[in-house]
Amino acid sequence: MSWLQRDKKGLKNQPRLARKEIPDGLWMKCPSCGEILFRQELEKSLWVCSHCQNHFRVGAEVYLGFMLDEGSFRETHVGLTSLDPLEFKVGGEAYADKLKEAQARSGLDDAVVTGVGSVGGHAVTVAVMDFRFMGGSMGSVVGEKIARAIGDSLASGRPLIIVSQSGGARMQESILSLMQMAKTSALLGRLREKRIPFISILTHPTTGGVTASFAMLGDL
Ligand SMILES: [Zn+2]
Repeated sequence: MSWLQRDKKGLKNQPRLARKEIPDGLWMKCPSCGEILFRQELEKSLWVCSHCQNHFRVGAEVYLGFMLDEGSFRETHVGLTSLDPLEFKVGGEAYADKLKEAQARSGLDDAVVTGVGSVGGHAVTVAVMDFRFMGGSMGSVVGEKIARAIGDSLASGRPLIIVSQSGGARMQESILSLMQMAKTSALLGRLREKRIPFISILTHPTTGGVTASFAMLGDL
């Protein structure tokens, strides 16, 4: 048997969250222990299961709610969407269609939300990735928005917080995705020169090209 095949039941049958990660409804089933949980209680416990301590995967808006002072968030760089320059298609499925579907399902333009807000009264620039949008993958829009958020911190002197949640670079944009790694890393170098703090928060999962660029370059 190939070592790539999984024969352990626990791995194979690991429960997964539905496509829409946090469905609406009063009650929710914990994907780890199967316990039925009251949604309001889950929100109070910051989406951690009270029975098994499983951390639910949450979207960008929930992270922003955790981190920032109430009502302080203002979104920036809205309306950037990918142009699909390669007219990428795989298995009969066009990237352009996948993008539209992801936008409709998540309500996001792409896999990152950027903005400004405050933490304990301190003004910060934030960028929060969202796994719901094509696995949080980084294409040209994600890279550009991260770059612009770094630029905002450079211009204002505000510390930068990036919450990473990503499968890595977006294959549908090929080299355009990969060049975002260099772009964001170079800009973070300028942030460092100016001695502006960058806090990188890694959430499950943070892998691939995102790990190999900005996610690992945090001061903290
Ligand atoms: Zn649980």
